[in-house]
This record gives sequence, C-alpha cells and structure tokens, in this order.
Amino acid sequence: MKQGVLKHAIDKKPEAGDFKIVEAETPACPDGGVLVRLEFVSMDPYVGARLRGRHMGEPAPRPLEDPIPGHGVGRVVQTRTTELNEGDLVYLTEAGWREYAAAPAGSVRRIAETGIEPSIFLGALGMPGLTAWAGMTQLAEAGPGDVVLVDAAAGAVGGSAGQIARARGADRIVGIAGGPEKCALVEQTYGFDACIDYKAEGWQDRLAEALEGELSVHFENVSSDILTIALTAMKPYGRAVLCGLAAHYQTGKPAPGIPFGLVIGKRAKLMGLVVYDFYDRWDAFLSECALLVRNGRLTIAEDRADGLHAAPEAFARLMNGQNRGKALIAL
Ligand code: NDP
Repeated sequence: MKQGVLKHAIDKKPEAGDFKIVEAETPACPDGGVLVRLEFVSMDPYVGARLRGRHMGEPAPRPLEDPIPGHGVGRVVQTRTTELNEGDLVYLTEAGWREYAAAPAGSVRRIAETGIEPSIFLGALGMPGLTAWAGMTQLAEAGPGDVVLVDAAAGAVGGSAGQIARARGADRIVGIAGGPEKCALVEQTYGFDACIDYKAEGWQDRLAEALEGELSVHFENVSSDILTIALTAMKPYGRAVLCGLAAHYQTGKPAPGIPFGLVIGKRAKLMGLVVYDFYDRWDAFLSECALLVRNGRLTIAEDRADGLHAAPEAFARLMNGQNRGKALIAL
C-alpha cells in the first residue's frame, strides 16, 4: 500500500516538501480486530504540533517511519472479531495517511448506514463536530437569549459551533473569518447572521455593529488577541469557551496573555475545552447532530485533497490557514 510519512524530523511549521509518499507493507488483520480500507483521512491543525512532539496526545516527536496521524473513515475488508463484519463502515481515530489501517475492535466505531456521506463523519459528525457540540452545549450551554461569536468560522469546528448554537435557539450568530470568500461561505452556506473579515480595514467597528452590544457567548479557536477583543465586546456575566489557538501553534512560543482586569470587570466565565473529555458522550452528540445534518441545518464545506500525493500541499495550506472548510484526503 501507499502511505505518507515525514522525510526528516521537523522543528518548525511543516511545509509540503517535508513529506513523502512511500510504499509500505499492508498491515495484517490483528486477532480481535479489523483491517480497514480507508476512504477519507482527516487533516487537523493539531497535527503540525503533534509531528514535532508538542501535543498533549503525543509528547515526543513521531518516528519517521510512522504514517502522518489523522482520523479516518473506511470499510472493513477483513475481520477477526465478532463485533464487526466485512463491509461495515467505520471511524478510526488512529488511521493516518495510508490506504489500509489495522485496529483492535475496541478502538473502532461502527457508522450506521443512514445515507449520510462518509466524509461528514470526519467533520460535522466527527471529532471537530464533537468539539463544537461540547463547547456550545456542555460548557457554554448556548440557547435562547444568547448572542454568539465564533472565530475560524469557516472551519469544521467554528462552522459547526455556530450552527449548533443556532439549532439550540441562540438569538444571533456572528462569525469571524479570514477573507471575503470564507465570510461568504459562513453567511450563505452556514447561515450565520453576519461574518466579519478580520483581514479587512475597520473590521473591529463592523464586529461591534454586528454584535449590537449583546455578546454573551464566545467560542475561541484562533488567538489571545481575538479573545481579548471578544471579552472587550462581551456583556457582563458572559461565557467564553477556549478551544484553540490556531494562530499560535506554529510560532514555537506560548500565546501572549489576556488582560486579567478585563475578565474580572466583565465577571466573565472562561472555560477550557479538550475534546478527549467528551468522547464518552459521542452517542449523545451524534443523535443530536446527525439529525441536524439530515435536515440540512448543519453543513460544512470540504477542502479535499484528491489522493495521497495531493496531501502534502493541502496540509501546508491548512498550516497556513488557507483551507476553506474541513480539510481531508479523499483516497
Ligand atoms: P480550521 O479548518 O478552522 O483551520 C484553522 C483556521 O484557523 C484557519 O483556516 C484560519 O482561518 C485560522 N487561523 C488564523 N490564524 C492562523 C494561522 N496563523 N495559521 C493557521 N490558521 C490560522 O480548523 P478546525 O476547524 O479543525 O479547528 C479549529 C480550532 O479548533 C483549531 O484551533 C483547533 O486546534 C481547535 N480544536 C481544538 C480541540 C480541543 O479539544 N480543544 C479539538 C479540535 C480542534 P481564518 O482564515 O478564518 O482565520
């Protein structure tokens, strides 16, 4: 089979030239497990840090011969467990950039055949969607009366967060995204009330207008600078979910702090989110969000690399924030 690996150890933001696609042995089907032919593999912002051994999930650099990590969706082609059958559609957290993955049955989640496109189980109905659902419903508890702000709003986490808050009855959803194309996607396809392009002149004034002085829930994906702007705009007793720091992952330095007095003055509640804490609520998330997907109320654009050979360029675009929607490899 083919798989994608690092050419050499890296200590900075990964670039397309840092990867190569090589031939490898197809793994054997393990006793008590399955062999899966992968159809889609996810590309996520945390992987850049993980490759350098700077991620909580893998605090040491990745061996060069290991495939680049990524969640995956595919079909069982061989089984040595009674829990899964040949032909089952499954989701694996440790799939990686490769054509086949072997896994113990306990680490594989079977996907019911409901007609939902399999790639959606890497975006709105996968780990990014669970992250958004956890932040909006379990932490911020967004609902009627709330005005919600989300940055990186064109991505899978941000786009899902806004649409889930809308489905839970929030009054107004405002996004922040980089560039007019992303903002058009957020407003026209994701149905946010407004999306502000932070790369345009005067964006903070437009943000203030869009929030109408009523911001009560903020979902942070990008930076402490945007968090500070959101807290400044927030009503007293607002809630902020701290989910990601996309603008800081590749800098090698910790994100700067935020004004402490601002948090006190606003009586704001800041909640850190790590999606691993919510893996045991995956069924509750799916039962709510699969219905939204089926009803057309939760949709995320896909930024697909067509085949493994296209993955390095697509991954570099993700690292530079140039992806438009859920970044994934179609195999
Ligand atoms: P996205 O598809 O949204 O990609 C990240 C986006 O961040 C970019 O497209 C870009 O959007 C924005 N960005 C801003 N500045 C930069 C920069 N300097 N470099 C790169 N990107 C930048 O990703 P996801 O939807 O997968 O994830 C969104 C956030 O959620 C990430 O921070 C991710 O790490 C986090 N996350 C956290 C989890 C947790 O457990 N806490 C779990 C899963 C994801 P724009 O141009 O609009 O600014």
